[in-house]
Amino acid sequence: MKRPFDNDSSLEVKAGVELPPSINPNLRRRQPQPKPTQDQLIDGIKNGDRVLLSRAITLVESRKEEDRFIAHQLMNSILPLTGNSLRIGITGVPGVGKSTFIEAFGVKLVEAGHKVAVLAVDPTSERSGGSILGDKTRMEALSRETNAYIRPTPSGATLGGVARRTRETILLVEAAGFDRVLIETVGVGQSEVMVHSMVDMFLFLALAGAGDELQGMKRGIMEMADAIVITKADGDNMNRAKLAAADMSRALNLFPKRSDGWQVPVKLSSAITGDGLDEVMTLIEAYKAHQTESRRLQQNRKKQALYWMAQSIDEKLKQHFELVVKDQQAEVANLVEAGDLNPFDAADRLIQMYEKQLREESHNK
Ligand code: GDP
Repeated sequence: MKRPFDNDSSLEVKAGVELPPSINPNLRRRQPQPKPTQDQLIDGIKNGDRVLLSRAITLVESRKEEDRFIAHQLMNSILPLTGNSLRIGITGVPGVGKSTFIEAFGVKLVEAGHKVAVLAVDPTSERSGGSILGDKTRMEALSRETNAYIRPTPSGATLGGVARRTRETILLVEAAGFDRVLIETVGVGQSEVMVHSMVDMFLFLALAGAGDELQGMKRGIMEMADAIVITKADGDNMNRAKLAAADMSRALNLFPKRSDGWQVPVKLSSAITGDGLDEVMTLIEAYKAHQTESRRLQQNRKKQALYWMAQSIDEKLKQHFELVVKDQQAEVANLVEAGDLNPFDAADRLIQMYEKQLREESHNK
């Protein structure tokens, strides 16, 4: 199903966020717009034009072969303009208050003079039929800011597909001058690992009183966190939030010391009262300074670039493999399923078939 924000609409950015047609009658009257040229896109991005930025992102999200070619050229031309942001991943279980936090925190960042881009990574959105950012009215205040730009998850893609597009989108928003990029991800494991591998800092939002069991389950994610923020620290919840912060700090002390010497802080915040948001902002700047001084920020990005190169090779080889031995793969899979062939021999057999096809192809050239 095509969702409202799948449209390549200039209205999307004027309003900051594209509203569904039922709310935004302009969308129904919208005429298809001519495709901007590559030069127009590049100039637009350089000038921070959000309409053209949106068009460029739509282009890199496209799976059409002709779009891929232009997107590739576009990415190469904007590359020198990229890298000047702090990339922050924000995670936490559904309901922890991610969207509310990002909205309030994003407004703070804008007030402090930053240009803020919010991207969402939610590979589950296609399956569940909704996106974590589907209910975009939650970011109304932030979307009204001229210095904020909000972009939901690209739809209908595998985790690998979402990863590549999100990485390219980060670069595009950086080229357009956004210097704080917030990447929201839903707390479901795999997508966190992916987002962690493309950000400079990882913020873990946690609920007070979520129970030891849950916190235990999240151990892997806690180990990735550069800072932990206990959300909804307001009203009746305040005491529980304080207790949770103390618990978290104690749990963190049990982890081995980090090699970069950074001590993971635990902060309290309320997106409703605004308490604690300034502290989170200060802490983010402290982290940035710490990582920049020790040159870890750049080192980390280099490592990430190599990781993504390897990932991309894996993905492309796999795609090619599947294309070449598509028919045989189904047959061999049947044998494995029936218990007539063990999976390792099956893999070897398919790889041999693949290699044979390649040899024949090169022979016929
Ligand atoms: P998400 O699923 O993690 O994006 O969570 P939401 O941002 O949608 O928030 C889930 C619910 O928690 C909503 O009903 C919010 O109004 C509420 N909420 C979010 N932040 C706060 C907060 O700081 N204090 C209080 N009291 N409620 C909050």
